[in-house]
Amino acid sequence: MEYFPLFTRLNGRRVVVIGGGDVASRKIRLLRQAGASITVVAPGLSAELADLAADGAIDHVVARFRAKHLRGAYFVVAATDDPAVNSAVFTAAEKATVLCNSVDDLAHSSAIVPAIVDRAPVQVAISTSGAAPVLARRLREQIDALIPAKFGHLARAARRLRSRVTARVADPEARRTVWEHALDSNAAQALAAGDGTEAEFRSAVDRSIDAGQQTEGMAWIVGAGPGDPELLTLAALRALQDADVVLHDRLVSREILMRVRRDATLISVGKQSGCRSVTQAEINAQLVALVASGKRVCRLKGGDPFVFGRGGEEVEALRAAQLAYRIVPGITAAIGCAAYAGIPLTHRDHVQAVQMVTAHGRGAFDNIDWQGLAESRATLVFYMGVGRLAAIRDRLIAHGRAASTPFAIVEAGSTQQQRVVTGELTTMPDVAARQAIKSPAIVYVGAVAAYAATLGWFEPTSETDQAPVYATLGATA
Ligand code: SAH
Repeated sequence: MEYFPLFTRLNGRRVVVIGGGDVASRKIRLLRQAGASITVVAPGLSAELADLAADGAIDHVVARFRAKHLRGAYFVVAATDDPAVNSAVFTAAEKATVLCNSVDDLAHSSAIVPAIVDRAPVQVAISTSGAAPVLARRLREQIDALIPAKFGHLARAARRLRSRVTARVADPEARRTVWEHALDSNAAQALAAGDGTEAEFRSAVDRSIDAGQQTEGMAWIVGAGPGDPELLTLAALRALQDADVVLHDRLVSREILMRVRRDATLISVGKQSGCRSVTQAEINAQLVALVASGKRVCRLKGGDPFVFGRGGEEVEALRAAQLAYRIVPGITAAIGCAAYAGIPLTHRDHVQAVQMVTAHGRGAFDNIDWQGLAESRATLVFYMGVGRLAAIRDRLIAHGRAASTPFAIVEAGSTQQQRVVTGELTTMPDVAARQAIKSPAIVYVGAVAAYAATLGWFEPTSETDQAPVYATLGATA
């Protein structure tokens, strides 16, 4: 974090502005809104500032800048177009430990002023740390369009009702739920849009208090997609923001977990094949216990919860305990990784069906209908298959798939660690071993797998993570 965001109270504090031209005028308009006590140091003033000085709204020191002008200052703004003056102001300010902003001059600023969306008392401040102020302004326009015009009315009404709610609902968590319901109400939305009354909103708050005395638990069984947070659905994002507790799988990426509400409890129930840290029964029991105690729980799973995700078992447990749940689908690895590797799962020239298979699970491997898979002309997608590549190859070839059938393996698809390897089925285990492919990885077998070499487009851009390896080996290259 290059700059620490902070809202500071300027009311009655001494702010010194160096310069008396148009740039200074603009800054002074803003500073006056915050109630600052303003002294302008400049040999001359613009007409606007001269009027303010004549009215006694600002003080004017007729002089060129000297360090002594900072005495008693809380904040100084250098609003001249002379870098030498900015530099002198900055040096003096540093010495006196006074915060300093030099307008459009990052090198001589210890504080920068953000772009703001003002719905007082609600303020949104946007900064690019000086990297691209125009970008900040763009973002401000977008956010400005998003926030209802009278949002400040709603915030002020909420402020006036705060003590009333606090007095009636002692438990902080229950109180948050009361506010969430009240702020979701039609009355709140009408007030923010400018066509409701505060009395209606107060009634909505009261209703929410009465209804919310005992909070009802809820579970969202949510698919987080394959890794890239951009692939979350809006419903998933909402659940991450609303939940009190997030029970997540190991597969869920850090970037996605960063989207969880700050004060929510994060619990990892990760299972890594081979080391069974937590059993499915334990996860079910934990989920049920949390929801039964009134928590709003987001059960966050990689990909889609109903594709090799045991989501069904968890929903059965919730159902048996008569608890409320919602199911939010996610982009499953087969689909997400195919897109990020440039593999069209179907293609009119080659294949009309897709089969998703797990090479892992309750004695599953031997129960797979290898004959059917080998004979089907479908694109085959194997989940959890990296540990069994030789066996998959052997069985498919033994049951009649051509040794030259293209394959592709996508490791950590859609993340900054994504790697793709391709080749012919017969070489699959060797290629994967040479490239040290590891879990999570997904295996595609079929004519369309060869498209990865030409249609692949995604290149991880992370500066810190390991470099992408895009290896194309075997005769189909
Ligand atoms: N419910 C998940 C699948 C869970 S099983 C879904 O719908 O995607 C776990 C397997 O999914 C892994 O072993 C791997 O085969 C696959 N997988 C999940 N995320 C992946 C990713 N980002 N890249 C490659 N494979 C992934």
